Amino acid sequence: MKSVERHISDCLALVAAPAPVEVDLLRAHGEVLAEAVASPVSLPGFDNSAMDGYAVYAADVAEAAEDAPVVLPVVADLAAGAGAGTKVVRGSCARIMTGAPMPEGPDAVVPVEWTDGGTENVRVRRPARVGDAVRPAGGDVLEGAEVLSPGSRIGAGEMGVLAAVGRRSVPVFPRPRVVVLATGEELVEPGRPLGPGQIWESNSHMLAAAALDAGCEVHRHGFVGDAPDTVLGALEGLLAGADVLVTSGGVSMGAYDVVKEVLARQGTVEFTQVAMQPGKPQGFGTLGPDRTPILTLPGNPVSAFVSFQVFVRPVLRKLRGLDPGPLPTVRAVLSSAVTSPSERRSFLRGVLRGPEPGSDLPTVVPASRQGSHQLSALADANAFVVVPEDVTALPAGAVVDAMRLPEMC
Ligand code: AMP
Ligand code: MG
Repeated sequence: MKSVERHISDCLALVAAPAPVEVDLLRAHGEVLAEAVASPVSLPGFDNSAMDGYAVYAADVAEAAEDAPVVLPVVADLAAGAGAGTKVVRGSCARIMTGAPMPEGPDAVVPVEWTDGGTENVRVRRPARVGDAVRPAGGDVLEGAEVLSPGSRIGAGEMGVLAAVGRRSVPVFPRPRVVVLATGEELVEPGRPLGPGQIWESNSHMLAAAALDAGCEVHRHGFVGDAPDTVLGALEGLLAGADVLVTSGGVSMGAYDVVKEVLARQGTVEFTQVAMQPGKPQGFGTLGPDRTPILTLPGNPVSAFVSFQVFVRPVLRKLRGLDPGPLPTVRAVLSSAVTSPSERRSFLRGVLRGPEPGSDLPTVVPASRQGSHQLSALADANAFVVVPEDVTALPAGAVVDAMRLPEMC
C-alpha cells in the first residue's frame, strides 16, 4: 500500500505555483498577497502633533507651574490638513490639533489640558520636554521599508496598512475554482422524498463547504448516477470551469465503481490504495486537454471528509499560494482507548479540549462512532486523532498527535 506522505506529494505535484493577479484594494479582503509591499513614503510623512494643544519651544515653558503659568502669544492655528511651513519664533506658540504638521521652530506640544485654552494668548501651567507629544516623520515606517510580506492573508489590519501606504490595488493569488461532483445511483437531493434503498446526498455539500473553508471558489455540480457515459460526460462538461475537480464515490473494488472505470481508461488518472483508515481507495491525475487536476475520493462520507483534509486541502492551499503543509498537529492526551488496523494510519474523529488549568496538554475525546459511514460525529469534531501505522491499540491516557481541523473561513 502507498504511504500517506507519498500520496500527498503525488497530489501536490499535480498543481503548479499560482500566478498573481492585480485586484482593487476593496476586493483584496481575505486574499493572499502575492508580492512584498513596501512603503513609497515614510509614515508619518511629516512631524505632527500627537495631541490637541500648543506647539511650543520646550525651553520657553521650562519654568511653567500651576501657580506660575508661562504666558505665550498664539501666532497660528493649525488643524489637521494644514499646510507645512508655518514659522513660529521663540517666545510664541501655535495652537495645534492632533495630526496637524508641526510648525517650523517649536519642538514640543503642550496638551490643551495643561493650559487655559486661550486663542490670543495661552497660559501654560506645566513644562514640556523636547519631543513631547510630537510624532516624528518616519516614526512608524521608513520610506522603502517592507510593510507586508508575500503570503500574508489580507485581513482588517493588513487592509489598513495597504491603504496607509497609498496602495490602490495589490497583487494577490486568485482563488482556485473547485468543482465538486458526487456519483451514486442511490443518491437523492436533500429535500426530495426517498425511495427504497436511496439516501440523501451529503458528500458534495460537505466537500463544497470544506473547499469554501479552504478559501476557494466552489461550484457544487451535485451528483450523477453510476452510468459510465453520464459520469464521463459530466466530468468533461465541468473541465472548463475548474482549476481542480473533486469527485466522491465509485473508486473502490465494487462492480459499479464508475469513476475508476471511466477514468482508468483515460490513462491520466491513477487509482491506488493508501495505507490509511478511513480513505484507502484514492485516485489522482489529470483530465482533458488542459490537464485539469482531478482527485477522486471514496464515497463513504467520513472517508471523503478525511481524504479532503489530508489530500485535497494541501493541493488547494498550494494553488492559493499558502503553505501546503498538513493541518497543524498538537500533542494531546487521549481520554479513552482506541484501536486501529495494523499497517494503516488511522485518522479518528475527536474533540480537542483544554488544556485544563494545571495540565500541560489538551485532552482529545475520540468520537464513539468511528465507522466510515457514521458521519454524525463529524458535526462536533474539531480534530483527527492520528494513530500511526505500527500501532494497533492505544489506552486512555496515551499521548497522541491530534490534527486540528480548519476553522470556518
Ligand atoms: P462508493 O464509494 O460509491 O462505493 O460509496 C460508498 C458508500 O458511501 C456507499 O454506502 C454510498 O451510498 C455512500 N455514498 C457515496 N456517495 C455518497 C454521497 N455523495 N453522499 C452520501 N453518501 C454517499
Ligand atoms: Mg457509489
